[in-house]
Formats: sequence, C-alpha cells, structure tokens
Amino acid sequence: MLSIADVVVIGAGITGASAAFQLAQRGLQVAVVEKRFIAAGSTGKSGAIIRQHYSNETTARMALHSLRVFQNFAEVVGGDAGFVTTGFVTLVEAKDRAGLEENIAMQRAIGVNTHLVSVDDLRELDIHIADADTVAAAYEPESGYADPASTATSFAEAARQRGAQIYQDTRVTGIEMSGGRVTGVQTTHGNIATRAVVNCANAWAPLIGKMVGVDLPIEASRHQVATFQRPRAYAKPHPTAGDFINKIYYRPEGSLLTLVGSIDPSEAMQKVDPDHYNESADYAFIEDAAQRIRNRYPFMEQALSKGGWAGIYGVTPDWHPIIDEIPGGSGFFVAAGFSGHGFKLGPAVGVMIADMVTHASAPTAGLARALFRYSRFAENQPVRGKYEYSIVG
Ligand SMILES: Cc1cc2nc3c(=O)[nH]c(=O)nc-3n(C[C@H](O)[C@H](O)[C@H](O)COP(=O)(O)OP(=O)(O)OC[C@H]3O[C@@H](n4cnc5c(N)ncnc54)[C@H](O)[C@@H]3O)c2cc1C
Repeated sequence: MLSIADVVVIGAGITGASAAFQLAQRGLQVAVVEKRFIAAGSTGKSGAIIRQHYSNETTARMALHSLRVFQNFAEVVGGDAGFVTTGFVTLVEAKDRAGLEENIAMQRAIGVNTHLVSVDDLRELDIHIADADTVAAAYEPESGYADPASTATSFAEAARQRGAQIYQDTRVTGIEMSGGRVTGVQTTHGNIATRAVVNCANAWAPLIGKMVGVDLPIEASRHQVATFQRPRAYAKPHPTAGDFINKIYYRPEGSLLTLVGSIDPSEAMQKVDPDHYNESADYAFIEDAAQRIRNRYPFMEQALSKGGWAGIYGVTPDWHPIIDEIPGGSGFFVAAGFSGHGFKLGPAVGVMIADMVTHASAPTAGLARALFRYSRFAENQPVRGKYEYSIVG
C-alpha cells in the first residue's frame, strides 16, 4: 500500500471512480480505498437511467455534460460504459403541464436536445403506449441507460492507467487530523499520509464524517426495482420513461426485459441500515409495479415476472448531493448524498471534485458546485428546481 498520496478517495462507486479518473488525469497521486469491491454499493444496483430532464439548471447541465461522456466513453475515458440510446419520455398529467413546459424551455436554453411532443407524436414514437391519461409529454432522443458496474470499472481502470492505486476489500477506519487539517487515512491494510480525502461513501458517508466530527445529513433508504420479460411479439425495446402519472420510471434492458422502479415519494420512507437490509424485491412491490406498467402497456398483462432487487439511496433532506470541503481549508472533501439520481451525474461530478480538490480557479464545463454546499441545510436554503415532480432515477 502507498505510504503517501496526494489524495485518498473513499469508495469505488461511480462517484469515487470518476473522481479518481479526473484527479489522476491532473497528475495527482491518487489512492482509492473501497471496503468491498468496485460498484459494490448503490452503483451496482442502479437503474442507470441517463436522462437530462431536471428542473434545476445546474443539475441539467451536469446531466448534459455526463451524457456527452457516456456517448463518447471509449474516447474520453476508455473501456465500455454499456451505454444504449433508447430515448427518454417524460409523461405528466394536467397539473404538471405548465411546469413541464417551463422545464423544457430551461433545458433547451442550455443545449439539451429535448422537445414537447403531442399525444399523436408519442404514439408514433411508441406504438404500444396507452396514452389516454397523458396530457403532456417531452422527448429526449439522445437519452438511454448504461451498465453501471462496467462504467465504474472502466473509470477505475482509466484512473489506474494514470497511476492511481485502487485498494479493494480495504475499509477506512479513521482519518488523522492535525491543526484542523487532514494528515492521513487509517485503513484495515495500513495507513496513508495525505492532505486531502474525498468522502464518496454515499449512504456510509456519515460514518466517515463522524471520523472528523462532521455531521452529514444523509440517510440510507431502500429502493426496489422489478423486472418483467415482455412477450416476444413486443421484443422491440420501448423508450425509457419517467411516468409521473403512474408514478414509475421504466426502461428496457437488452431485447426483452423491462425494468420498473417507483417514483412515489412513499418509497423514501424505508430507512435501513446500509449494511443489513433486504436486497430482494418484495412480492407486493412486484405486483404493484406489474399493475402500473400494465396501465402504460396493456400487453404487459402477458409479461413474465423476473423478480427484481433492492438497493440503497443515500438521501439528503432536499434530495440533492453535498459537494463541498468541510470546513473550508481542512482537506476533508465530501461528494455524497446523490439521493437516487447520482449515476447519470457521475462523469460531471468527477470533474467537480477534481476542480474542488485542486482549487481550480475556472471550474471546467461551467459546473457550479456552490449550489451543493454543506451549509445550505443550516441556512435553510435547500436546492429546489423551479418545477419539480419527483425523482426519476
Ligand atoms: C435501485 C436503484 C436505482 C437507481 N436508479 C438510478 C438511475 O436510473 N439513474 C441514476 O442516475 N441513478 C440511479 N440510482 C442512484 C445511483 O445509483 C447512485 O446515486 C449512485 O450509484 C451513487 O454512487 P456513489 O459512488 O456515490 O455511491 P456507491 O455506489 O454506494 O459507492 C459508495 C462506496 O463506498 C464504499 N464504502 C463505504 N464505506 C466505506 C469505508 N469505510 N471504507 C471504504 N469504502 C467504503 C461502499 O462499499 C461503496 O462501494 C439508483 C439507485 C438505486 C439503489
């Protein structure tokens, strides 16, 4: 193990792996410490939907920046992210129509390829969709989904090729401080002297925060995904969608599977211990998801249930991450609390972390991290979009 590093990244999910890549690319000696294996946390369980539909401009910019990386992954990072373009539709009812229109105008103004579609256009995009309940819809032709474990592994490998050391099966057990500054990291396999630590430990981030007396308002909540095999006659993949009417998101996987997750806020109520929770999908959840996807696609009556799984969201009070140095000048950096939508933002977040750690004066890609400062909770200034419906993965 390295005895000294410029920066120690804790956690090898999408956030830590992307950060390691960006930091190593800037010439820093990086050590990544992961208590299990790459993508063992939320990343490996992610629905991995890559959409740009956000109600907040900064997050929409991050999603757009990241989409370009997913689209050109082999050239920009190297390796494979398993990105598949499916198109993404947002479906809303009457009460959200004005909000959808405002959001689309904002997204288009920053360069997102999205537009409102009529119900007739929607049917042309997706001939099997049942749309009687749909009042307004938006379409992003370039969005889709990726393979989350491949993405994190490719980022980690690209970081390793640039000199980063990745320690799996190695847990951070303590952080050493002197004069208010980070001086080292203790792990189950030895200590690393460093002046910068990046806490990318998601739902475990508060445990790391405690090591330096920083209280991070991030809670672990359990979220489920159900999978269904479509009848062969419907093998052509449908678009990925945020269906705010049925309160689900869904996407195809390969040629025959459909993944369905919930966007019902009640899903956030299942607070759990991230090391001990039920990682399978509940029967009641699968049954409910089957009903909701059938509302959208009546042919799903003939679909086969293929089970599902449960993973963890690391949720903050406003469902947006903390990306900050806490306190300023301490060398203790945090990028955690992505609240169920952090996979698609990973490429941009890596850039933001590298800017933060290297004190870059001109943050690349105009990705403003000030919005995600830690102090916003104490200041009662939560991050809000202009028009929000819910979290769509
Ligand atoms: C069911 C589900 C569906 C989702 N769908 C989507 C989606 O469609 N689109 C989207 O954008 N996002 C989605 N998300 C959210 C997204 O997956 C997460 O926001 C993202 O993967 C978080 O990545 P991360 O690297 O921050 O955290 P994680 O992947 O959880 O990584 C944190 C890592 O830290 C490690 N760690 C913890 N403590 C220590 C320690 N003491 N020492 C060393 N290592 C430690 C853990 O082992 C873990 O590997 C979904 C999440 C779930 C669960």
